[in-house]
Amino acid sequence: LVSRKWRVRPTVLDLGDGVRIGEGTLTLAAGPCSIESEAQMESIMQHLVENDVRIMRGGVFKPRSSPYSFRGLGMDGLKLFHQLARERGIKIVTEVMQVSQVEEMHDYVDVFQVGARNTQNFNLLDALGSVDKPVMIKRGISGTIEELLSSAEYVFSGGNEKLILCERGIRTFETASRNTLDLNAVPILKEKTHLPVIVDPSHGIGIRDYVADMALAGVMAGADGIIYEAHEKPEQAASDGAQTLNFAESARLIRNLRRVYALR
Ligand code: PEP
Ligand code: MN
Repeated sequence: LVSRKWRVRPTVLDLGDGVRIGEGTLTLAAGPCSIESEAQMESIMQHLVENDVRIMRGGVFKPRSSPYSFRGLGMDGLKLFHQLARERGIKIVTEVMQVSQVEEMHDYVDVFQVGARNTQNFNLLDALGSVDKPVMIKRGISGTIEELLSSAEYVFSGGNEKLILCERGIRTFETASRNTLDLNAVPILKEKTHLPVIVDPSHGIGIRDYVADMALAGVMAGADGIIYEAHEKPEQAASDGAQTLNFAESARLIRNLRRVYALR
């Protein structure tokens, strides 16, 4: 069902208030790795509004490699995130980690994110198949393109056709970068599926100085959008600061992404 052979026309998702994802528009989503505080959200939202970015990312449930790392503000953080975003016309993409969270998060998110560690959590995918909200599925840490498409098929075949695929880098033998951003996946996915494809250069390379160039490369490779990490003070971020852009870097990237998209 997610194949181009089944549906030729590209899927375009409408998040409301003029925010669309898919062919014909460049989707930009930015924000911190983790939602940390009201002040943090207000500063990033102001940055997004100033730069006409309509979607904010930020985790309230964080999958961390170490159990001792910051694990997010949970539902209280999400409710505040939702309230502040609504007041500013911003849409929310945030990670859902388990089936029991789908219902409680439902009214407070615009796009459910399935993280790389949950791409093959088939119970979670089944649960998201019966929800009337867009779902962004990230590629598994060691996942193939075919496995990503199969994960999408789970959600789609359950009845939820509002899907976005995200290339976020895979684990390879290379240790010089956090992951290996597989830009090959972009044209391959665009050929194989009618679903929108977006690129996450932050987790893809994991090194702040290179994030912007990889984002631009993602757009040139044919991505429908970019999702990246931004924070007022990346050095103080509760997670992923080393791959997070400050506002000056983020503003420059947004300008360049729009230029490059127009060239395509
Ligand atoms: C994130 O988006 O902050 C995240 C944890 O992503 P991934 O699942 O791709 O590692
Ligand atoms: Mn992160």
